[in-house]
This record gives sequence, C-alpha cells and structure tokens, in this order.
Amino acid sequence: MGYTQRVIDDLKERYADQPEFIQAADEVLTSIAPAVDANPAYEQAALLERLVEPERIIMFRVPWIDDAGKVQVNRGYRIEFNSALGPYKGGLRLHPSVNLSILKFLGFEQIFKNSLTTLPIGGGKGGSDFNPKGRSDREVMAFCQSFMTELCRHIGPDTDVPAGDIGTGAREIGYLFGQYKRIRNEFTGVLTGKGLTWGGSLARTEATGFGLVYFVEELLSERGESFEGKRVNISGSGNVAIYAAEKAAALGATVQTMSDSTGWILDPAGIDLAAIHEIKEVRRGRLSEYAETHPSCEYHEGRGVWSVACDIALPCATQNELQIDDARALVAAGCAVVGEGANMPTTREATDYLIDQGVAFCPGKASNAGGVAVSALEMSQNSERLSWTFEEVDAKLKGIMVGIYHAAADAAAEFGHPGNLVVGANIAGFKKVADAMMAQGIV
Ligand code: NDP
Repeated sequence: MGYTQRVIDDLKERYADQPEFIQAADEVLTSIAPAVDANPAYEQAALLERLVEPERIIMFRVPWIDDAGKVQVNRGYRIEFNSALGPYKGGLRLHPSVNLSILKFLGFEQIFKNSLTTLPIGGGKGGSDFNPKGRSDREVMAFCQSFMTELCRHIGPDTDVPAGDIGTGAREIGYLFGQYKRIRNEFTGVLTGKGLTWGGSLARTEATGFGLVYFVEELLSERGESFEGKRVNISGSGNVAIYAAEKAAALGATVQTMSDSTGWILDPAGIDLAAIHEIKEVRRGRLSEYAETHPSCEYHEGRGVWSVACDIALPCATQNELQIDDARALVAAGCAVVGEGANMPTTREATDYLIDQGVAFCPGKASNAGGVAVSALEMSQNSERLSWTFEEVDAKLKGIMVGIYHAAADAAAEFGHPGNLVVGANIAGFKKVADAMMAQGIV
C-alpha cells in the first residue's frame, strides 16, 4: 500500500466521527498522490501526517445574554490549520450546523485555495454554532463581543486574520473588530471584510464573481475563444452570481439565467442586470419580481437553470446544486465550460461525468479564489496604511486569477492529467505548501 493511502486509512480510523473532514482529505490526498509519490523525501519527513493535523485547534465557551435576560452558551472554534505560507487566513462561520468536522474540512481546503492565490497566507477557519438569524442587533453584538473576548488572544495581523463567511457579514465583522480594538488597544488589520472607511478594500464585493470570470476568460483565451457572443447560464443571484453576471456581460456574453432559493428566470435576450441589482441588492426581494417588469422573461418556481442550453455554466448559488442529471442535460445541449463560483456546487458524480465528457471543469478551489485573494490584498493595504484604487485592486485580482489558471493547468499536464483542473489545482496548491513545510523543518 502506498504512503498516501496509508495516511488516508489512518485518518479514517482516527477521525471516524468527522465525515466532512475525511471526505475532503480523501479527495485532496487521492488527487495529489502522483506528486507525493514522485518525492520520497515527503514520506521521510512525515509530511502528509503533519499536513492533515491542524497546527492548533482552539475551542471555547461563548456565554452571552439574550434580550429576555437569559444566559446563552455557544461553542466557539478557531482551527489554525497551516501557517507554512503566512498567517492563518479563513472565514468565521456562524451557523447552527457548525462543528469540528465541518470547520476542519473547510480549514483544510482553505490551505490549498490560499496557496493557489500565490499570496502569503496560510489556512484556517473558525466560527460558532450561534445562529444570527432572528437575533436582534444587540444580541448579535453581545455574542460577537463575547466570542472576540476569547479569540483576541489567539489572532493578530501577523498570526491569524479571520474574515466573514456564512452568517458573518459586515455587521458581525464590525462588532468583532470593535471588541478586538477595545481589548488590545490596537487598530490593525486583524480581520478582513471591513467597511471601506475603516480599512476595507475596494473591489472586495466584486472579487469572487469578477475573479471567476477572469479565470474562465483565461481558459477560453487558451483555446482562441472569448466570452463574446457566448450564452452563459448562472445560478444564484447573490454576491458571487451578480458580479459574475456583470463581468460576463461586460465581456460580450449573454447572461440567460439566474436563480434564487424559490425560483429562476430565463431571459434569452440577456438579463437586465441593473434590475437584478435593484431587486436583490437594494430591496432584498425575490427574482419573481423581475418577470413582472420584463415581458421577454420566463419565471419558473423551483430549480431548472441547467435545463437551458448554454455554452458556459457558472453555478454560483450553493453546494451540490449541479447534479448528475443536470450535468447530462448540459452536455447534451453542448455546454463546453463549467466554472464553479460557489463552494462545491457540483456533486462528485456530476464532476466526474463532466470531466469524462470533455467539458472544461473549473473547480471552486481555484476559480472562486478571487474573494480570499482580495482579502489578502486588504491585509497588504492595512500593513501599508494605504488604500488602493478600484482599478489597482481589480488589475491585481485579474493577474492572480490568470496565474491560478496556469498553475493548475501546468500541474495537471505535468502529472499526467492534461486539462483536469481538479487534479491540477490540488497539486499546484499542495506543492507550494509542501515545499515550504520541507524548508521549515519538522515543526
Ligand atoms: P449569497 O448569500 O449572497 O447568495 C447566494 C445565492 O444563492 C442567493 O441568490 C440565494 O437565494 C441562492 N440560493 C441559496 N440556496 C439556493 C438553492 N438551494 N437553490 C437556488 N438558489 C439558492 O452568497 P454568496 O453569493 O456570497 O455565496 C454563494 C456561494 O459562493 C457559496 O457557496 C459561498 O460559500 C461561495 N463563495 C462566496 C465567496 C464570496 O466572496 N462571497 C467566496 C468564495 C466562495 P436567496 O436570494 O433566495 O437567498
């Protein structure tokens, strides 16, 4: 049995109670096996055993008082997974489903995504089983202040720089930052996703959607093609979807579909993105409102964007939303490229099918890394105490996404899987971390 498989088997035995973490580790380790086998020094240095074990896990009690005067107690976590390339970096998820397995899965994936950006950031993730939905602003503030009272001893601009994630938006980042500053008496870039007047970066809002389109644009240009004249189907109508749609349309594509959790729209003439912005970002309404004012549009309840023929599919809503039947329909209708904007929107079975059928498949780990890349650029601006213009940040973002595409494509070709960007992204992300860990000794 090979080294990689032994490590996977050992993990499965040791962490049988952490299914999400096992799934992620199994997927990554299996696909990097050719790169690991090519370098026996990794095994001598127990590199994989160290890679799968977080450098530090912090778990703590988060007591706070609700509006009824009752004491509530949540669990807080920070997984400081790997700092070979820089300070730990990754979001804080506030959701009732949060547990150690999910945070270890996300933290592990983050190591490779962050490595791909080429920026000096390690991998981490954290959060709590606190649910901000339905809580008053005062309750959310009380939770955030209690959470940060403990977390502040473990993080810092050169140590660990958390960001937002599900349930942690601008409001929560503000409360967390305020409490850090109050306790430490330091105004530093200890969190990213900050407001523009107090250390946030321009183009962070657009970064993930724009970055996704830059990644796909580079893939197309390698084939002598572009977005010009292409039919693009997008799912979701949130942050990632809206800015992916905006950039694809700016590059000459026709964005035909978008969706939300109740239904989806098809506008073959090209979706009116100013109307989407008004409905979803300003009024926080439903997509069904779009159909009322756009007679060329069809509105359907439920899911269905992948049933419409297109050239490029960009799933930007949620996990496991593009399933095997959707993949079959896309291939049958001639779709040539699938670019993941969301995290894990394509099921394993659908991913394998798309790759087998010759569809250019862009894994989220690579193609949605624009968000964390601009978060790292926010850290750079905070260190310099300067704010870059939108154009400067956008140009850097584009350069990073083009670089990620080539790193993944080159690694896929080097290790015998030309065109397979899933394998390529895992290997390219891994190699940089592995080389740094080897250089830094047994730590
Ligand atoms: P938002 O919450 O802004 O938007 C999510 C969108 O998806 C909403 O339009 C939502 O509809 C829709 N949606 C949710 N569930 C479903 C469903 N079951 N079927 C159809 N539509 C659904 O999130 P983001 O755009 O920020 O994130 C989207 C994905 O991208 C997530 O997987 C996230 O982890 C990932 N991601 C985000 C990054 C970022 O920078 N924002 C960075 C990297 C990854 P509704 O309006 O009804 O809620």
